[in-house]
Amino acid sequence: MRYVSTRSKAPAKGFSSVLLEGLAQDGGLYTPEEYPQISAKELSLMRTMNYPQLANAVLGKFIDDIHAGDLRELINATYTKENFASDKIVPIKHLEENLYLLDLCQGPTLAFKDMALQFLGRLFEYSLAKSGQSLTILGATSGDTGSSAEYAMRARKGVRVFMLSPLGRMSEFQKKQMYTLQDENIFNIAIKGTFDDCQDIVKAINEDAKFKRQYKIGAVNSINWARIAAQVVYYFWGYFRATNSNDERVMFSVPTGNFGNILAGYVAKQMGLPVEKLILATNENNVLEEFFENGTYRPRVGQEVHATSSPSMDISKASNFERYIFDIVDRNPKRMAELWEGLKSAGFFDLGSEEIEKVRASGFVAGSSTHADRVAMIRSMYEKYRVLVDPHTADGIHTGLKFREKNIPLVCLETAQPAKFAATIRESIGQEPELPKSFKELEKLPERFVSFEPDLEKIKHYIATAV
Ligand SMILES: *Cc1c(COP(=O)(O)O)cnc(C)c1O
Repeated sequence: MRYVSTRSKAPAKGFSSVLLEGLAQDGGLYTPEEYPQISAKELSLMRTMNYPQLANAVLGKFIDDIHAGDLRELINATYTKENFASDKIVPIKHLEENLYLLDLCQGPTLAFKDMALQFLGRLFEYSLAKSGQSLTILGATSGDTGSSAEYAMRARKGVRVFMLSPLGRMSEFQKKQMYTLQDENIFNIAIKGTFDDCQDIVKAINEDAKFKRQYKIGAVNSINWARIAAQVVYYFWGYFRATNSNDERVMFSVPTGNFGNILAGYVAKQMGLPVEKLILATNENNVLEEFFENGTYRPRVGQEVHATSSPSMDISKASNFERYIFDIVDRNPKRMAELWEGLKSAGFFDLGSEEIEKVRASGFVAGSSTHADRVAMIRSMYEKYRVLVDPHTADGIHTGLKFREKNIPLVCLETAQPAKFAATIRESIGQEPELPKSFKELEKLPERFVSFEPDLEKIKHYIATAV
């Protein structure tokens, strides 16, 4: 399996090379040269597999340059009861006929990003050891991504994490989750400023090529192909749990920010999974809803990005979207260059009518919701089914129900546990979400972080002396 860049100017590479590289040299995203296909026979065999077996079957299609036995061990060590609360790994909740919740948030940080990042942590450790390298992961977080990355990389050999977060601007829960980690390879840097200050510093460090090389700075952001591949697995899993035979088709509803989660659903469909529709749900930041309605992609800038009560979807630019457009333009390098040039100079692009036809045929529909919709959905799910969902999941269900079709199972992806978003839960049902047991313990632990003004040189100095 070779991976090619969406900008077509970087050399094609194998899985292990693109794993540690991040963005391709030409600024594009690595994507498989061709999507592997699942035969009808394979699909029948997969139906009875447990989660690690299924992960092995699906990931083996994308990863062919790691020894098969080693890959199986990495997967078996990742998807365990200890890590994901039960042997099911991804439980499915049956709400009523043809309506399901796929629970992707049983991992250590209670959000779906653990599904991929927990695997990525082990994969990084393994690949770095093989090549005798080490890596310094540098990131900025407003709360959720940072904790997921830290829990994935804690105690992993050859990896250090420097995570910048805005001091005093995260929820108590998020703060405790990150700052109580005692592992020596985790460095929490609390910035006396905003999330944007954190991001600016990370960007400035990444632009300093010499520093970057010297301290082996990398990222675990959502453009990493290994993350997408690991997410493809639970679409297969969800399909088998919501159907009785492989003649049936299902719809998935997916709360979307960076287009990472739903891209994995699109890839599963390309591989031959019988998916009827992929329902893309956004919040007030509805750039992608606009795109699927009229073929215009116009990312928001600065003040146009709303701070909402489903904050992990407050994204101006959907990074992984580029991989989807690459397919829509039949991977034509000239057309890609044209579109991304337009994005840079005019701030938007418009697809042509043939391309819009391809978008329509690709099986996506999209919708958005407001704070009021979210609150109403959390309340209604609680009253109707006694199920408490988080605000992101509520966005997904809101749009999912809008596009639901008779006799087709609708699987709504549950992306975080409600305990992470207590304020919105309180507003919706008038009571506190229950804290998971493991997190009651966190409150007693000491916090471990350093704090800085948003001063680039001081932070570089700190990294340089700590590495
Ligand atoms: C990251 C995140 C999302 C959005 O996922 P993308 O892959 O960025 O589309 C949705 N819900 C929650 C809880 C998240 O943490």
